[in-house]
Amino acid sequence: MSTGFDYAALLNETVEECRPHAERGQLPSYIPELKKGNPKLAGIALQTTTGLFEAGDTRVDFTLQSISKVFSLLVAIEERGPEAVFAKVGSEPTGDPFNSIVKLETSEKKPPNPMINAGAIAVCSLIPGASVEERFGRIAGLLERILDRPIKIDEAVYQSEKETGHRNRALAHFLKDINCLEGDVEEVLDLYFRQCSILVNCADLARIGMFFAAKGINGAGTPLVSARAVRLVSTFMVTCGMYNGSGEFAIQVGIPAKSGVSGGILGVVPGRFGVATFGPALDRKGNSVVGISMLKRISEVLDFSIF
Ligand code: GLU
Repeated sequence: MSTGFDYAALLNETVEECRPHAERGQLPSYIPELKKGNPKLAGIALQTTTGLFEAGDTRVDFTLQSISKVFSLLVAIEERGPEAVFAKVGSEPTGDPFNSIVKLETSEKKPPNPMINAGAIAVCSLIPGASVEERFGRIAGLLERILDRPIKIDEAVYQSEKETGHRNRALAHFLKDINCLEGDVEEVLDLYFRQCSILVNCADLARIGMFFAAKGINGAGTPLVSARAVRLVSTFMVTCGMYNGSGEFAIQVGIPAKSGVSGGILGVVPGRFGVATFGPALDRKGNSVVGISMLKRISEVLDFSIF
């Protein structure tokens, strides 16, 4: 079917032009398993209502990392309601790094927002279920219904984070002390590490972006979460989805987006399409260098900033 616009050509040119920018970034070293990635990979995918368009390394699996925070937040809001969630986590962006502990003591005694690690760990503690498996099943189950396929985790990355996640452990214990973490600290961390280790590829992320763009309706036309939950989570993606680079990203690209330290970026153009990028080399804030360059370029060409 003709779409009236040659997305394939735009995406191919975009990957070619932006791939060399990987040289300006670095692989994350604080999770040993992620250090083994290939910094030269670059992919971009766009899911519209008429089809999927993709270029570059869009079928290479990587772990969701921080992108998983949007799914646990959706599940927590749906299952527990916004009031219960926002009793334990705030709604303000911070200018601090994603794994910072500093605001926990100096602000209003709750993690500032659900997109930083402390906030996401607090949100994980709110996912209902009698066991970690059951709770994880709620998060993975949502993704399975969005993508219409089974979800797997990367065992090596999961173990790597579990063994070396000392800072996340410190955050979780601090949260427990200030009454922002429900249940057992180690179980909540286990759930958090599992969700971070879920495997996806760039094409999957574009489909997920379309699910957000369609206000929570999957490709088969089934509503999976409420439009209200999607609106809340998309707003957090605008204000804090790109770590402490969210302001600049809003100016340069202008869409709800969430990045992860394995190099993925999930983007949503509300009512129009899902867009996703992959490029493992990161800037100093933890965002994919190539991903941001590619999104900047196509945002200008397709004029999709929401602002
Ligand atoms: N698993 C990573 C961590 O907890 C996620 C960080 C990220 O992608 O920003 O540090």
